[in-house]
Amino acid sequence: MLRNKGIPQSSQSEILLVSILYFLSAWLSLKFTGEGGTIASVWLANGVLLAYLLTTPRSHWRMLVAGCMLANVLANLGAGNDMAKALALSACNMAEVAIPAHVLGGRLRNRSTIINWAFAQKFLIYAVVLGPAFAGALAGVALSTLQTENSGEIFKTWLMADALGIALVTPLAVALRRSGISAMKDKEGLAYMVLCLGLVGVVTAAVFSQSRYPLLFVIMPFLVFAAFRLGLAGLSAAYVICGSIALAMTSSGSGPMFLIAETTAGDRLFLVQMFILFIEVSTIPVALALESRLRLESQLATANARLEHLAGTDPLTGLPNRRAFDRAFEREWAIAARAKVPLAVAIVDVDHFKAFNDTYGHVAGDDCLTRLGEILSNTIFRPGDFIGRYGGEEFVIVLPGTDMAGAEKVCERVKEIVSAANLPHETSPLDHVTVSVGFASMTPDTLLSKNQLLEAADVALYSAKSNGRNRVARAAIGQAPIIKSLTTSPILVPVLQTTH
Ligand code: GH3
Ligand code: MG
Ligand code: MG
Repeated sequence: MLRNKGIPQSSQSEILLVSILYFLSAWLSLKFTGEGGTIASVWLANGVLLAYLLTTPRSHWRMLVAGCMLANVLANLGAGNDMAKALALSACNMAEVAIPAHVLGGRLRNRSTIINWAFAQKFLIYAVVLGPAFAGALAGVALSTLQTENSGEIFKTWLMADALGIALVTPLAVALRRSGISAMKDKEGLAYMVLCLGLVGVVTAAVFSQSRYPLLFVIMPFLVFAAFRLGLAGLSAAYVICGSIALAMTSSGSGPMFLIAETTAGDRLFLVQMFILFIEVSTIPVALALESRLRLESQLATANARLEHLAGTDPLTGLPNRRAFDRAFEREWAIAARAKVPLAVAIVDVDHFKAFNDTYGHVAGDDCLTRLGEILSNTIFRPGDFIGRYGGEEFVIVLPGTDMAGAEKVCERVKEIVSAANLPHETSPLDHVTVSVGFASMTPDTLLSKNQLLEAADVALYSAKSNGRNRVARAAIGQAPIIKSLTTSPILVPVLQTTH
């Protein structure tokens, strides 16, 4: 019956599952139909079906409705109704769900679709009021024709039971389908939700366990609390709990409704239904407003993180920029000072880059810098190491916990890798793009500032340039720097002034 070639296997089993759920909730509602009445006091099944229609592609609707129609007929036959009545009632139920489903469409299919106030209003009008009213009128006509029952009474009972069922079940089922599984993963959040819902249940049970005082107002703050702390999904669950307890306890003979003199069982049930519907309608806007605020806050946080990233990124090379370097250098300097470990900094400058631009043009110069950015970002491996574009054709490296010997190894590697990339540069004496590197390392102390460390690396860079380029030079902090040439062993050069 449910097989259909156009619908994937997973959806077919889902349709079967919805039909079974529909059958069970219909059976449950019919079983608890109060005091020999024809219509249940709360009709949950249509809420389940509507939730699925709102979150499923339209192409699956026909199968969903067919499955639930069958489930409905079976549940009615099981409850002792004849075939004509079972068919008539099932058709009314399907009409009830079809109205809001067509107006609201499969809009909630996309999990990121926002449930805003405009949507909630449409849901209230079409799903909670118009659908049940239309179906109730149809059922009234059908049953009064079939069994000479009072169509006005049927209309009123049907409207209340179905409005309540849809108002209670659909928001919860939609919320569970949209985020249920992911929400379950947060164990702490789940425990908190169970606690809050338990509290709502206990308070409702306490209020409805007695018939001496009109304590209905006591429930309200707990539901507002649920709206604030649990969001739409949690609030929907709170209503299912509160509503079921209130209806069950009133039907079994206790609760504040018994304070009103000369009421019939039907009147009391009607009042409880009204109570639940009205508190639901008055707290849902709180949950919606709160959810939209939380959503805006998270969008703002994402936008800020993106901006922060952009503000610290060099657009040409994609490497961290000068601003990001300043922050990283300051942070690493403070960490090194506290841990009393060395901090190394190196400046990498492209050799003869003005000539490169003059030969190949600025666009090619930019491409070369981008390529160098990629190459350089592959030259440092340790977590915490930093490489960024300092400005122009200069890059800067920060190596936490690294002494002169370690920094020298990294700088030699940088120089070698750039040279090995063999980027053509015909106006350079070496035929290809090369870099010079100056570096310095020290354990921060109170006598020197981080700027002096940077200046020492800069002075070393100057000496690497003046000694022929394509080489690494170490800074001397109070001693002579050693310049290593590409081919020869280290040469001692005059002491560099590193403090200004
Ligand atoms: P040296 O070997 O002494 O470093 O010589 P150099 O030509 O690289 O040094 P200089 O500081 O005289 O020139 C740097 C040049 O780098 C100036 C400019 O043409 C080029 N340059 C700086 N920033 C950029 C950039 O963003 N794009 C391009 N295409 N060129 C840049
Ligand atoms: Mg330069
Ligand atoms: Mg240069």
